[in-house]
Amino acid sequence: MIQQQLIASPVTATVDFAAQGVHHGFLRLPYSRDDAAWGSVMIPLTVVSNGEGPTVLLTGANHGDEYEGPIALFDLAATIRAEEVTGRIIIVPAMNYPAFMAGTRTSPIDRGNMNRSFPGRPDGTVTQKIADYFQRVLLPMSDVVLDFHSGGKTLDFLPYCAAHVLADKRQEAQAFDLVRAFGAPYSCRMLEIDAVGMYDTAAEEMGKVFVTTELGGGGTASARTAGIAIRGCRNLLVAAGALKGAVEPQPTQWLDMPDDDCFTFSEDAGLIRFCADLGDRVEKGQTVAMIYPTSRTGHAPVAVAARRSGLLTARHFPGLVKPGDCVAVVADEVDG
Ligand SMILES: [Zn+2]
Repeated sequence: MIQQQLIASPVTATVDFAAQGVHHGFLRLPYSRDDAAWGSVMIPLTVVSNGEGPTVLLTGANHGDEYEGPIALFDLAATIRAEEVTGRIIIVPAMNYPAFMAGTRTSPIDRGNMNRSFPGRPDGTVTQKIADYFQRVLLPMSDVVLDFHSGGKTLDFLPYCAAHVLADKRQEAQAFDLVRAFGAPYSCRMLEIDAVGMYDTAAEEMGKVFVTTELGGGGTASARTAGIAIRGCRNLLVAAGALKGAVEPQPTQWLDMPDDDCFTFSEDAGLIRFCADLGDRVEKGQTVAMIYPTSRTGHAPVAVAARRSGLLTARHFPGLVKPGDCVAVVADEVDG
């Protein structure tokens, strides 16, 4: 581990992070392969700096099949003017660029799940090398981090912005102030079911103010969720003090995911029929879905029950389900 820290990142930025103005470029990661002996992975990057202020790091496509983040960030990079900025905004629309270009959650190069790859390795796989660059270069230079997620091809979410309940209450309060400013239709106090290796955890452990989203899913973005992402990103930048202007306040319903009972997993394979839709109120024990065995006719479906009462906040997206898949997430409606 000590040895590893001495190895410089193989990633180089083609823009100067200290330069004033708007600069478009790349994070270039050497990647030698059959079709390019001295080839590289070229991750698009925009850095906008103007005078004094915080540094905000914006990332999309941490998972490659989630699209609201890339839409909001390619849009922002194409439209932002330096004179609007107070401080520095670092925009990486597609953090796991190989996964984004393949339209898959994980990287086609090494199957790396970016959000399970932190702190990364400078001498590891492509995904680990990207994670290491964020861990040792981009996160340390940032004050605020917004990482966009959606459900991808296998989940669908009520559109929410979220932060984590943290031991450091000041850091937690700063994050929830930005969640409020983002102004998604739903705002969530999030519990992670599998926090090891996450970008979220890496940023929070460094004391950074970390905000994330789940804005839809199914492997696409709607007009509504793209609009939420674009407006929310600008609102967050204004509230963080990195962009001039005023926050456009939006109504939001706060949600809480206090424990593991929020999550329901399938024990069966089959054809899934939902009995409640996203945003519906469900009661503990209520059937949220039925799973029909597909190997033969004449068998009754297996009922999947909500483990707590609340709003159906996320659901399995594809029509077929496997044992172990997350079927439903039920969150409490709470006051902000
Ligand atoms: Zn994701």
